[in-house]
Amino acid sequence: MPDDKANPTADWTRIAADLAPVEVLDDPVTIKKRSRDFFWYSPILNDQLRRSFGDLVARPKTREELAHCLSVAHAHEVPVTLRGGGTGNYGQAVPVQGGLIVETTAMNRILEIGEGFVRVEAGALMADINAALKPHGWEMAMFPSTQDIATVGGFVAGGSAGIGSIANGPLRENGNIARLKVLSVEADPVEHVFDGDEALRIHHAWGLNGAITEVTLRTVPTRDWVGCMAGFDSYRAAYGAGHALASADDAVIARKLCSVVDTRIADYFPRLDAHVPKGRHLLVTLVPREHLDALRALVAGHGGTLHLAIDEGERQALKLPHVFEFAYNHTTLQVLKSDRSATYQQIGVPDASDAARVEAMRARLGDDVWSHHEFTRWGGLVYAADLPIIWFRDADRLAEINATYEADGFTVYDAHVNVIEGNHMQPDYRHLAWKKRLDPKGLLNPGKSLEWEKVRHLSADEIEALGPARTPA
Ligand SMILES: Cc1cc2nc3c(=O)[nH]c(=O)nc-3n(C[C@H](O)[C@H](O)[C@H](O)COP(=O)(O)OP(=O)(O)OC[C@H]3O[C@@H](n4cnc5c(N)ncnc54)[C@H](O)[C@@H]3O)c2cc1C
Repeated sequence: MPDDKANPTADWTRIAADLAPVEVLDDPVTIKKRSRDFFWYSPILNDQLRRSFGDLVARPKTREELAHCLSVAHAHEVPVTLRGGGTGNYGQAVPVQGGLIVETTAMNRILEIGEGFVRVEAGALMADINAALKPHGWEMAMFPSTQDIATVGGFVAGGSAGIGSIANGPLRENGNIARLKVLSVEADPVEHVFDGDEALRIHHAWGLNGAITEVTLRTVPTRDWVGCMAGFDSYRAAYGAGHALASADDAVIARKLCSVVDTRIADYFPRLDAHVPKGRHLLVTLVPREHLDALRALVAGHGGTLHLAIDEGERQALKLPHVFEFAYNHTTLQVLKSDRSATYQQIGVPDASDAARVEAMRARLGDDVWSHHEFTRWGGLVYAADLPIIWFRDADRLAEINATYEADGFTVYDAHVNVIEGNHMQPDYRHLAWKKRLDPKGLLNPGKSLEWEKVRHLSADEIEALGPARTPA
């Protein structure tokens, strides 16, 4: 047992008995598996976190069972880490101080589908939500590329943007999260409701300040989406086409994905060999069928060729992955499948329209950094983020790469730290004020907020008064 357990003398046999009738998983292999997420993308976090394990897993099926888990953890003063699909990238769901892992995947009911919204239990998988919405003519306004295995509660607590964000903004865009219901960690847990903007007090707090039970999200009318890949001779041309597509009028090309991938990364996509020629820098997108001609013209106007255009039926017949499995953080995964020495970083581009600056940065970075840009919109403005593949040498070289980006005004949202206040993430005292209210003993996901340790002695109102909100990556 590592010596960093928050409560090394806890009686886990007794805790398991007290958790009844909640399903408990106590075999060591399962506990180890449920203690991991995708932190291994980062060699730095892999060294730091691979020996951190919880003590017991509980799998509640209802809100009442979840409340019982929180009450038992409160009575025994053991840490609680909420867990959905465990696809987070920074060890968000790793119980670094041991304790109870509460996995929500059995709380997965879709409760209500209405005009422009869906109300679901926190453990519902997003692919299941999208499948349930489709016959009603709706789809999620955005979802991560991990939709098949990630929960909506984990996305709201740990994610930020995804497929759809180029049309509908990130999760934090006003209206995307309509309502969250959240349980406190007390002797008798209380359910609190956060509507509209108030939901940002819980969103992207890494499960530090309450257990999300129910999520209401904005939905948008579904369309006949066609997954497309276009090839270009140069990265600059592909990026230019990506920016033009990202900025296009929705009535002309209503894309819900807009990703640009360096040809050296695309060489790690063997599943595409029969469909996309090698040696091409790729633009990866999803457009409605009626906008395919407009996309073809845009691509040709930037010197490219549309190599692949398949709808959902054709994709299934060809047994190909979704095109979004070559975008967002799936791009990194495709490379890691072949070579574990790759890692990545998260970089904010200062001006998405400045292709020359992006190109100059690529030249400055060297051969161990391969670009991959995702375009999103927020408040009507187009943003670009670079999620490059980095061939990891050591921490010093990674720091040098970060410094190269920063020297030209690019922002590094460091993917290699396990605390919520990572590089360039200002502490969000609204999160911590609600932690004080909902988790007064500080049992939820301990060790993930450096700032909490500094302010936990203050009252919730004093913490709230401390200041600025963080802008999540
Ligand atoms: C290949 C790959 C691609 C990805 N693509 C994207 C992407 O496109 N967009 C994106 O934003 N992210 C992406 N991610 C990150 C991650 O998949 C998403 O954030 C995902 O939605 C997390 O859901 P999960 O159920 O796996 O959460 P988990 O990893 O289980 O948990 C994430 C965090 O949320 C907390 N949490 C979980 N459930 C609850 C709850 N009910 N109440 C309170 N806290 C809770 C956990 O404690 C943890 O801190 C990707 C990751 C990988 C590995």
